[in-house]
Amino acid sequence: MSHRPIYLDSHATTPVDERVVTAMLPYFTEHFGNPSSINHLYGWEAEAAVKQTREILAAAINATPEEIVFTSGATEANNLAIKGVAEAYFQKGQHIITVATEHSAVLDPCKYLKTLGFEITILPVQKDGLLDLTELEKAFRSDTILVSVMAANNEIGVLQPLAEIGAMCRDRNVLFHTDAAQAIAKISLDVQAMKIDMMSLTAHKVYGPKGIGALYVRRRNPRVQLAPQQHGGGHERGMRSGTLYTPQIVGFGKAVEIALEQQATENQRLTQLRQRLWEKLSQLEGIHLNGHPTQRLPGNLNISVEGVDGSALLLGLQPVMAVSSGSACSSVTTAPSHVLIALGHSEQLAYASIRFGIGRFNTLEEIDQVAEHTISTVQSLRKQSETPFTE
Ligand SMILES: *Cc1c(COP(=O)(O)O)cnc(C)c1O
Repeated sequence: MSHRPIYLDSHATTPVDERVVTAMLPYFTEHFGNPSSINHLYGWEAEAAVKQTREILAAAINATPEEIVFTSGATEANNLAIKGVAEAYFQKGQHIITVATEHSAVLDPCKYLKTLGFEITILPVQKDGLLDLTELEKAFRSDTILVSVMAANNEIGVLQPLAEIGAMCRDRNVLFHTDAAQAIAKISLDVQAMKIDMMSLTAHKVYGPKGIGALYVRRRNPRVQLAPQQHGGGHERGMRSGTLYTPQIVGFGKAVEIALEQQATENQRLTQLRQRLWEKLSQLEGIHLNGHPTQRLPGNLNISVEGVDGSALLLGLQPVMAVSSGSACSSVTTAPSHVLIALGHSEQLAYASIRFGIGRFNTLEEIDQVAEHTISTVQSLRKQSETPFTE
């Protein structure tokens, strides 16, 4: 256990905070009741715990507790939002707008809907990863029912202008969904100010457990109609049946509560670590920063490296650090990242990319070690290569 690589993959997942584990434990054993059991104490105490998490999540995004629908994570929340709206509103229109840099959990449900006859517009992004709002403006049609744009990108950390997008959608009577899996409790989110109608959340990117998430579904002005994608006992106001997973829900609430308490100081610390890492790495020649320099998640640094082979680079880094490469984040494919391609990168440069996801438990010493090892790995790969790297 002594020489485990430094974990710098916080956009893939995060460890569960000890305080979260402690809060969850009694709900496996002592308070194991089914929150739907209305006739006895076991059910009531589980229901009270679930209610508390609803309140925490609602407060975090300026919603009401009744607007929180628990799911197994952000993938399910995205599926419920997109397919649920498509099914409920298809008589109004069959056109959906999304963005090229979205997570596959948004793009793939859209692709699926296309096979059913829906029309999908996938907007490009600018070189810095931001959506061009004039492109969005042009994409609206009279039959557009939904716009789905993520809050924070999981690869390049870019934060999209949610309030502007929300206002444009509301003006046109089009529903606005945002995938906020990377954003919850890290940046400020306000479904009223930003005119968001649905928002996908997950616990395991904010030091909570895997397997639990939520969809915020607006109840007033407008009241969003959703066709359930899982039928059964009618839980979650009929939108998502299945016995609620009380321990995970308790952990989700605790994780968000902690993250909100620490948000300001944590963001400042992560920004400093990221800047330090970038200052060191950018002393190398032929290094590109991917994504907007400041409008991004504090803990995200994504770089492309000229003059090296992507897989050799990752192999060289692996003993010292756990990072992700520029190939698709899913381990089942080896295609270059669709996000980096959307920024206009060549396939080769997209492959030779590293995503550093700095998190709560990373230290300054670790960042320095990571910088040093990355620099020496790049230098030795360039030296070995037959066509030496020259600027
Ligand atoms: C991780 C992630 C997801 C998937 O969330 P799960 O809870 O693991 O299903 C979806 N969207 C984004 C942007 C993510 O980062």
